[in-house]
Amino acid sequence: MFSEVTVCSSCVMDSTDPNISFDADGVCNHCHEAKVKLEQGWFPGDEGRQQLEAISNEIRQHGKGREYDCIIGVSGGVDSSYLLHVAKHEMKLRPLVVHVDAGWNSEIAVKNIEQLVKALDLDLFTYVVNWEEMQDLQLSFLKASVANQDIPQDHSFFAKLYDYAAKNDIKYIINGSNLTSESILPQSWGYDASDLKHILGIHKQFGTKKLKTYPKMNFFMHRVYWPYVKKMKIVRPLNLIDFDKNKAIKFLEENYGWRYYGGKHHESKWTKFFQAYYLPEKFGFDKRKAHLSSMIASAQITREQALAELTKPLYDESELVQDKRYIARKLAITDEEFDNLLSLPNKDYSDYPNQISLLNGLRNVKRIVRK
Ligand SMILES: [Zn+2]
Repeated sequence: MFSEVTVCSSCVMDSTDPNISFDADGVCNHCHEAKVKLEQGWFPGDEGRQQLEAISNEIRQHGKGREYDCIIGVSGGVDSSYLLHVAKHEMKLRPLVVHVDAGWNSEIAVKNIEQLVKALDLDLFTYVVNWEEMQDLQLSFLKASVANQDIPQDHSFFAKLYDYAAKNDIKYIINGSNLTSESILPQSWGYDASDLKHILGIHKQFGTKKLKTYPKMNFFMHRVYWPYVKKMKIVRPLNLIDFDKNKAIKFLEENYGWRYYGGKHHESKWTKFFQAYYLPEKFGFDKRKAHLSSMIASAQITREQALAELTKPLYDESELVQDKRYIARKLAITDEEFDNLLSLPNKDYSDYPNQISLLNGLRNVKRIVRK
């Protein structure tokens, strides 16, 4: 029952995204959308320099007399690591650096964070999520059998970051997300990690322990109170410079003794397993395609390079066996129980409580206001 997969003629996205569409030249909707996004939001030249300088001045001005002028969340990955360098040396900021440890850090990631913070002389605050609660929530998501198994981890990262910002009266959140490597990501491949109703709904159905300290952010706090009442601002400097991932890796290695861990978001052992095994094996979604397509859209690699990259195996066989065993032990289940969870029938996020209508409603309101 192999169905034919149609691949875009310009990027490497294909019909494993059920909502993909192609124009008469075989170019997909993601390519067209990425082009608009990049035109509107990526400024690698002089305009970006000016914008970066203006926002840096604004942040420094606001930060006068305060211990920190902004906050940055770090994972030890390329984007957030390079962002620390930009914030300190190009923007001349005084960030509070926050790392949320949800239990899955690779040793390389921890080492990267330590080295950077030390070399840049920044204050690091690490928050460790209660493992018993985290474990219970991860198991709940596996039992729910939904595509986005990164929600428990991602939600805790953002919730804690905002929480620290609010507690320290910090208005500016400096974020490492960037259009040059993330302009393309099909909605059908995941679901919004900010939806607390979704998390609690799944946990209520499958969890066995109380989520007493797990970092949470609700819709009102995240979408209304922080941005509009507290006037917190998210700044994405990597969209205002000529950010090139491969060059950034080289720069970090040469200047900070930083080390690469082998794949996008593989700084977390869980995310590596989730992206390189769970998602492609179970749902047929290979996130490398979105990542590589984004880099084609921003002309950082060619389509041929991307296609060559995709012929590489997602996982090294022996590494997969090791990682699966590690994860099963960490989740306190047997190898067999883990396999059983992985082979449950696939579910959609909409099979569980969610706030998609509220999220879409807010998006529409914003669109109207902007017009
Ligand atoms: Zn395309």
